[in-house]
Amino acid sequence: RRRPKDKRMMNATALIIASNTRTQNQLVERLSATALFRDITPLASGAALLRHLKTRPADMICWAIEERTPQGAWIDRLQAHDQWHDVPLIAFAESRQSLLCGFELGASDVIHLQIDPQELSARMQCHLQRLQRLRELRRAQEQLQRMALTDPLTGLGNRATFDACLKQTAARSRRRSSPYSLLLIDLDHFKQVNDRHGHQAGDNILRMAAAAIQNSVRGEDTCSRYGGEEFAVILPDTSAPAAAVLAERIHRQIAALAQKLPSNHAPVTVSIGIASTTQTRPHHLLEQADRALYRAKKNGRNRTEIAQENERPVALPARSGSLHHACA
Ligand code: GH3
Ligand code: MG
Ligand code: MG
Repeated sequence: RRRPKDKRMMNATALIIASNTRTQNQLVERLSATALFRDITPLASGAALLRHLKTRPADMICWAIEERTPQGAWIDRLQAHDQWHDVPLIAFAESRQSLLCGFELGASDVIHLQIDPQELSARMQCHLQRLQRLRELRRAQEQLQRMALTDPLTGLGNRATFDACLKQTAARSRRRSSPYSLLLIDLDHFKQVNDRHGHQAGDNILRMAAAAIQNSVRGEDTCSRYGGEEFAVILPDTSAPAAAVLAERIHRQIAALAQKLPSNHAPVTVSIGIASTTQTRPHHLLEQADRALYRAKKNGRNRTEIAQENERPVALPARSGSLHHACA
């Protein structure tokens, strides 16, 4: 366990809510005597507190319960916010009735205004230490969450991110009757890169390809690593022709990347399958994009193929040019 006089704990900030200056001063004095706070700000109301918290964080909120004054609305608003939810909310009361009222209103602790200074200090330390542990846990949880959604090699979203984003984009597109597109991108003959230059060099190409793809898309588009050497881009509010323009930009960025590699390097190109829709279920769209990608491979690689809404898996004759529209 941490020692009670942890240095960081003596650097806390507290906000005090009391409508009259006499109680404000009394509380400032009590809290200062604990030597746990570097900053104590008195405020006149819950509304003032909510305004204050919008721009400045706090480690503790102390509030004097005043009988006959309706209170509580600001507490609900405070606790509805994730970032304020953990901050200890300490009520100060003078009567037994307001003491009980404090707990009913959701205070973390209710303390008598005339509390012994040592006991006050011990209680405050306890609350601040609990806050610190909660913050550490939250940070760890956020980090785990980030890790669960990120591909460690490329830094792009992983398959879980892709699945969630596709579902969300499909739902939004249906609601707004606005088309969205999906690009499936697969590195061509990538096995050769690994075979000729080693797995680490392959990893490097994957990283660079991911960056090239990310640099080709708009802020609202989501790039993910779909699997091994396959990437996916979800393009909200984008029809097939606009998605094809983006695919061409990706081909150009990958070509620029390949230009920078030594002359004896295995070729680095990508094949892209595009599918667009407003209505299709996400897994059907994925199938369509996959078929279009398969066709791009079949038709010579380093090219893009666009699926049509009701595309069936048919073998298509090769055509010239880098961009091909599917025959359903
Ligand atoms: P195609 O043009 O048909 O896509 O040919 P390909 O060689 O890219 O396809 P194939 O599926 O045969 O091979 C994919 C290769 O990608 C094999 C695998 O070793 C490699 N790969 C998958 N994930 C990684 C990775 O994380 N790092 C590295 N270096 N290679 C990977
Ligand atoms: Mg491949
Ligand atoms: Mg592949």
